[in-house]
Amino acid sequence: MRRDFDSRDELAAYLRREFSSAAARDPRTSPWPGGLAEANQRLARIEPQSYAATRNHLDGAVTCLSPYIRHGILTLETVRTHAVALAGSPTAVRKFISELAWRDYWQRLYFRWGSDIWLDREEYKTGWIRDDYLPGLPDDIRTGTTGLACMDAFSHELRSTGHLHNHARMWLAAYLVHWRRVQWQAGARWFLLHLLDGDPASNNLSWQWVASTFSQKPYFFNRENVVKFTDGRHCQACPSQSNCPFDASYDQLAGRLFRIGTATP
Ligand SMILES: Cc1cc2nc3c(=O)[nH]c(=O)nc-3n(C[C@H](O)[C@H](O)[C@H](O)COP(=O)(O)OP(=O)(O)OC[C@H]3O[C@@H](n4cnc5c(N)ncnc54)[C@H](O)[C@@H]3O)c2cc1C
Repeated sequence: MRRDFDSRDELAAYLRREFSSAAARDPRTSPWPGGLAEANQRLARIEPQSYAATRNHLDGAVTCLSPYIRHGILTLETVRTHAVALAGSPTAVRKFISELAWRDYWQRLYFRWGSDIWLDREEYKTGWIRDDYLPGLPDDIRTGTTGLACMDAFSHELRSTGHLHNHARMWLAAYLVHWRRVQWQAGARWFLLHLLDGDPASNNLSWQWVASTFSQKPYFFNRENVVKFTDGRHCQACPSQSNCPFDASYDQLAGRLFRIGTATP
């Protein structure tokens, strides 16, 4: 494959030609530049000391390094060493290091399980069985036309940029699996089509964690949680404001979504 291009546009045109079936699905190019120079610039800007307190907010101090880590441009060790040097000690950036460790852990499980990573590791803990879940991704989620401003924005962002904040991934995954009762594999396949950092280890095992096929209980959320960590940016203009399926207490939602008792997250 060619490696030298005069411009990013020329590179994008070349890739569209070489990977024509992918381009036929979606010809857009992510605005995220690749490469070592970009990765190092992003690494130089990280704020690991603020990470623990802010990481769940969409505008928190997350690093956006995952595509560079995923494609081997930065190693976990390089990122960890840099974070510790900035903070002065590992304990000051403990939460950040533990998230890097999750990636390592998922990779080790993938190494052991191979393609079985696509199978439910355990039963759903929702009271439903696998056959109760639909096998395919609903079109309105794929196209971002559910009428729920938050979910449609996440769907659009995923498809147009190839990236989503971790919390948005969790909300979108929980919506698909628990509200729409779709098998997690359908969502995992969709994410892998678009994510710049997409890999079956972190992706599938995170989906299984949300679904409860690799965790003690299902992950779900309510409207208050979305408002808190998005500053309400989606809810304010949501066409479904008066009929928001997330606007309830955790106990109420557990009663509606699951066949078992209360499952407060
Ligand atoms: C449904 C779902 C699907 C996901 N799919 C992927 C995927 O395909 N590829 C992927 O790399 N991550 C995936 N994640 C994990 C996480 O969302 C991303 O790693 C993170 O959002 C990347 O953004 P960041 O670089 O700003 O992370 P930061 O929060 O800045 O974290 C730094 C690095 O630590 C690692 N990391 C952070 N959180 C996690 C986590 N929960 N699990 C594993 N590693 C983590 C990543 O390498 C990340 O770049 C998924 C999470 C969910 C809930």
